[in-house]
Amino acid sequence: MLASIARAAALIATWCACALVAQAPRTDARAVVFEGARLITGDGRVIERSAFVVQDGTFTSVGRQGEVKPPPGATHVDLAGKTVMPALVDVHTHLGYRKGATFAAENFTRENVLDELNRFAYYGVAAVASAGTDRGDLTLRLRDDPDVPHRGALVRTAWRGLAPPGAGPNPPMRDAPYGVSTEEEARRDVRELAAKHVDFVKIWVDDRNGTVAKLSPVLYRAIIGEAHTHNLRVFAHIATLADAKDLLRSGVDGFLHVVRDRAVDEELLALLKARPQIFFTLTLFGPSLTTDNAAPAWLDETAIREGVSPDVIAQLKESMASRTPAAIEIAREEFQRLARNVATLNAAGVPLALGTDVGGASAGGMFGWTEHIELEHMVAAGLTPAQAIAAATRTAAGILRLDDLGTIAAGRSASFIVLDANPLERIANTRRIARVYLRGVEVGRNRN
Ligand SMILES: [Zn+2]
Repeated sequence: MLASIARAAALIATWCACALVAQAPRTDARAVVFEGARLITGDGRVIERSAFVVQDGTFTSVGRQGEVKPPPGATHVDLAGKTVMPALVDVHTHLGYRKGATFAAENFTRENVLDELNRFAYYGVAAVASAGTDRGDLTLRLRDDPDVPHRGALVRTAWRGLAPPGAGPNPPMRDAPYGVSTEEEARRDVRELAAKHVDFVKIWVDDRNGTVAKLSPVLYRAIIGEAHTHNLRVFAHIATLADAKDLLRSGVDGFLHVVRDRAVDEELLALLKARPQIFFTLTLFGPSLTTDNAAPAWLDETAIREGVSPDVIAQLKESMASRTPAAIEIAREEFQRLARNVATLNAAGVPLALGTDVGGASAGGMFGWTEHIELEHMVAAGLTPAQAIAAATRTAAGILRLDDLGTIAAGRSASFIVLDANPLERIANTRRIARVYLRGVEVGRNRN
């Protein structure tokens, strides 16, 4: 009897130990001091030969090597010759629909979304916002449940956006948002979103070159008004200058694309100047792919094959090769206008944030990789590398109210990327990743 009790106790003890190990965050409670790297802090400073201490998933001390006092017993990691920057944040993604080369609603499963979040993490993306095309309550659970055992990018979400019936995002995402026809419906849907504690409200204001109905000003004003009474911000998908102006006059809180039909003009800049919080995500990646039929050189980089499957790469090459010279000419003209608008907004000091549209219809499914190519497009459009990095870290984190991400400072989440080369000299160096740490834990990088 006693023996069996002892055996049972031993079993319980063993089980308890296992459970503890399984439940404990993989963060080492001991301090680790990282020394010698050039540190891009994300708040505009660069510290050469830095030192910073990470403990319990948090930066506890950040400064110059020799000045930072590591706690006794701290492990030392030598980062001499490396550059460290904050992990990235993407304000505009579409989770769940891409799986390999397929793009379908039935891909919206827990397993697939977790796989995407891990791919983001692999390339140093600490958090992503899902822009209004979610199905079921999966993304809300991934956002809220502290027991969700995933080490990937954090999720923020608009859950389901709003558009006229059957006139929102491109298929297969088209039926995911609310279809709204009346002000009453619009207000009721926003109240439902408020009850779900969405992070923002997404609307589509786009007739897709005259092929679908556009959300009317009466409806988007009702949506914005109702959202604001619930302390929710409204971020809009737009295409035209006229819509951007009217949305600004109607109180919209941010834009998830840049105006692409015309040049940004003084009137728009004046409206933006009056509302300095209004931001744009640039989503240059998708449009850039339409401007050529030769595959971009980055498709041959080793790092892309580590986190993007071969069928996705093959599919992109194929779709690019099929573009006609006439289509390319039009696309180049549009892309140049888009890039000039980005430069104008940047010169006017309008907040610009990383947003790629990855996972959506035009930007493909290179989760995590796309963010780095977008940075390169941002620099080609006129941002300095330091501005592009700020857009992808501090600004993007601020928009999503992820206050402990986006900068490297004491008290913030220890989410950072260790690079083999300096991205301030060449922005493509953000792809020369040596290590990624999210929330204090190193992301395994021995895929393939
Ligand atoms: Zn989108």
